[in-house]
Amino acid sequence: MIEAYWAWVGGPTARLLGSWVDGISIPISEILLILALALIFFRLSLPWIGLSVPIIWWIGPILLGIMAFSQGVTTIDWVPSVFRAPPHIRAGSVSVGENFHGWKERVKERVYVFSEEAYLQAESSPNLKEVDRAVKRVLNGLSYPPGREVKKIKEMMGLTRLMGLAYGGPAYHDVVTGEVVMAAENDLPRTKVYRWLTVVHEIAHAQGFTREIDAEVLTWLILKEMESPFAQFCADVQALSKGPWEWKAPPAYRKEQDKVLMARKSLKQPVVAWLSSIWKRGGLQNNVVKYGSISKSRPPVNHPFFGVVLKWDVGNSMVFDAEIEVKGEDESVEKGASLFPDLD
Ligand SMILES: [Zn+2]
Repeated sequence: MIEAYWAWVGGPTARLLGSWVDGISIPISEILLILALALIFFRLSLPWIGLSVPIIWWIGPILLGIMAFSQGVTTIDWVPSVFRAPPHIRAGSVSVGENFHGWKERVKERVYVFSEEAYLQAESSPNLKEVDRAVKRVLNGLSYPPGREVKKIKEMMGLTRLMGLAYGGPAYHDVVTGEVVMAAENDLPRTKVYRWLTVVHEIAHAQGFTREIDAEVLTWLILKEMESPFAQFCADVQALSKGPWEWKAPPAYRKEQDKVLMARKSLKQPVVAWLSSIWKRGGLQNNVVKYGSISKSRPPVNHPFFGVVLKWDVGNSMVFDAEIEVKGEDESVEKGASLFPDLD
């Protein structure tokens, strides 16, 4: 039913609107928000100047409501895509058991020895064409109807910038407009890894998946499907970052992290900090649990994210040793081999 919604309404609308939404460089969500607030203010001020209130002026509050309850932030949400068949079910998430520890140690090793040269050579943001190719293969491989190609990442501005930064989100995908908007580098200094993960995460949302854990599962699969070695590295870092365990970043990454920390310390954002402290007190800030983060290091049995990672990290997985033998060495073990080799 919900897949039918995306196949017949959500998807076609997103694809139709997508190209012109991406063509406008400023966030349309910001414009809509200001318009909604302006209409509300206008409506509230009418009785003071002795005018009546025609029903049409409900448009401000309605617009604001549509926007507020479509972002997957609140528990009440009208967006049907939040109820889609979760990717971890389609990807055949496995039960996470004792093999978890061995897999984790291998990923730690892989991350630590990642070549400095490859790190420095990687672009500061992923190539959107490359992301799109991987998105298509992943959606097709999991038998989802097609999503939409994101051609532009916009920069946060105005009220949505303030709210986004205070909420603790580096970017958002607006369900109403379908656009992907990210905090400017000056507002939120980030490492290359963080930028790649953020861009791919929001593009995953833009395929019609509102739930954070779904976006995270798709992010990992999309990164694994990308051609760049750096994307593989980002997928590993994404997986490692979800746990409480210690892991060592390679020197090039560590150097960049230090630089970013310094840059963040020198940020002067008094209004953001003030709003942020209010939201924190109200428990309204972004929470990593919904992205699949775990707080205990024992194997997280039936974990949607780790269940998928353990199943699909074939080149290094103990779970699928048998499958590797069947497929032959040249195909599945090789770096960059597609998770969905039949669909290229
Ligand atoms: Zn998200």
